[in-house]
Amino acid sequence: MGNASGVTERNEAAAVRALLIRANARDNVAIVVNEGGLPAGTVLESGLVLREAVPEAHKVALADLEKGAPILRYGTVIGYAEVPLKAGSWVHEQSMRLPAPPKLDELPISTEVPEPLPPLEGCTFEGYVNEDGTVGTKNILGITTTVQCVAATVDYAVRRIKTELLPRYPHVDDVISLTHSYGCGIALDAPGAEIPVRTLRNLSRNPNLGGAPMMVSLGCEKLQPAVLVASPDFPVLDTSANVVRLQDEQHHGFEDMVTAIMRMAEARLVRLNARRRVTRPAADLIVGMQCGGSDAFSGVTANPALGHAADLLVRAGATVIFSEVTEVRDAAAIVTARAANETVAREFIRELAWYDDYLSRGETDRSANPSPGNKKGGLTNIVEKALGATAKAGSTALAGVLGPGERVNRRGLIFAATPAGDFVCGTLQLAAGMNVHVFTTGRGTPYGLAMAPVIKVASRSALAQRWSDLIDVDAGVIATGKASVEEVGEQIFRLILDVASGRKVTCADRWGLHNDLALFNPSPVT
Ligand code: CA
Repeated sequence: MGNASGVTERNEAAAVRALLIRANARDNVAIVVNEGGLPAGTVLESGLVLREAVPEAHKVALADLEKGAPILRYGTVIGYAEVPLKAGSWVHEQSMRLPAPPKLDELPISTEVPEPLPPLEGCTFEGYVNEDGTVGTKNILGITTTVQCVAATVDYAVRRIKTELLPRYPHVDDVISLTHSYGCGIALDAPGAEIPVRTLRNLSRNPNLGGAPMMVSLGCEKLQPAVLVASPDFPVLDTSANVVRLQDEQHHGFEDMVTAIMRMAEARLVRLNARRRVTRPAADLIVGMQCGGSDAFSGVTANPALGHAADLLVRAGATVIFSEVTEVRDAAAIVTARAANETVAREFIRELAWYDDYLSRGETDRSANPSPGNKKGGLTNIVEKALGATAKAGSTALAGVLGPGERVNRRGLIFAATPAGDFVCGTLQLAAGMNVHVFTTGRGTPYGLAMAPVIKVASRSALAQRWSDLIDVDAGVIATGKASVEEVGEQIFRLILDVASGRKVTCADRWGLHNDLALFNPSPVT
């Protein structure tokens, strides 16, 4: 606007209808919904005039804030004014100070346990019933590996299985290798080593792998097949019948190894191919929830909508998992107050304390979590991010807590402690038994997993439209007033049932976008 006088500027600004979202009546900031942000001089509905341009998804001060005054979003202090902020100012990272994290020994314990919501009867999906009682939403042959040394060989064999064998077994969805960088050069007795080991064990038991286990081992590695399956709750696995060991003397060269893997795989393809989907209650779903590339809309659109879907799932008797320790750390009081009982609350606090210690050993803290993209998307700090992220957990009582890599053993809302990194979290949720994944995003990511379908929910309509072939649900319609949180939540819930039944295919699966597994290994590498 090179030739703009004050009048034209005002006219141009007035031509845009300012759309803002205030998450809670107590809030003294609101976020800008308008695509591309709002220019200085924009007159808000309240009569407040913007003192400066405010980017899309960023915060506007709704009142004059003294230096040190609390800044409230979601009705909660997300920071303190670093400088005096006049009403109509842009509130950004430099103008806000991070509050101290809530002290773990001062959290409310089960003080606001919600009453159970009325059960939701008659919700079903079509799934594959496994011998151990779990139910798959896919019928996949998974090949477990004990060590990275065999990964390239197994990947080679999987390529051949897919081209030469899989076309003859049309009821099998996929063949995947569970490859990773663990297994040797490790200290199995070191503190923390139990995490990658039980993660690998429980990944191989994921409901979508149909309970037809097979494993490829090198022979000399630290993580022997017998160690990998050694668990009181693991069904006895005859390792000799289910393991191809590349160093065995019967294998003369690479071709022999590949033939052995393909032969063992084909026996399992025959079994898996005989299975058919049957009608199962939605209670058999284990839905993992995660966010990645969040923005300031995530906490008012995609995450609350997913929270409503989580409530519907819990009412239908399903298991719903939320995770990402650093993204609930600052909202810990909300979770502990909702813990079903003191034991569950203490387990949750134990996991947060473990993670606090893990981060401090690395001389970092939770403030390292938000990414440049989060900040560009209007999320100023981890407190704001955490309050938005926790909306995914809906409103039911916290029924249980899992350590990293542990497997779920109860229904309801479960916290599975994981890092927030998308692939590490997704891998640990698969180990927990997740058979459907829902992923909310503001900035956008083409993320997908081979082992479970990933439904992606955008926090903004602009992203959903720009990435129409990568995003499954547009929750941005909540910000523009075209749909309610509950309506989008029901849409997500119905889509979960359709995807779990194989009636609908997610965007990630349509393109075959399957990111690698990423183990969480906090123990030493030797
Ligand atoms: Ca994440």
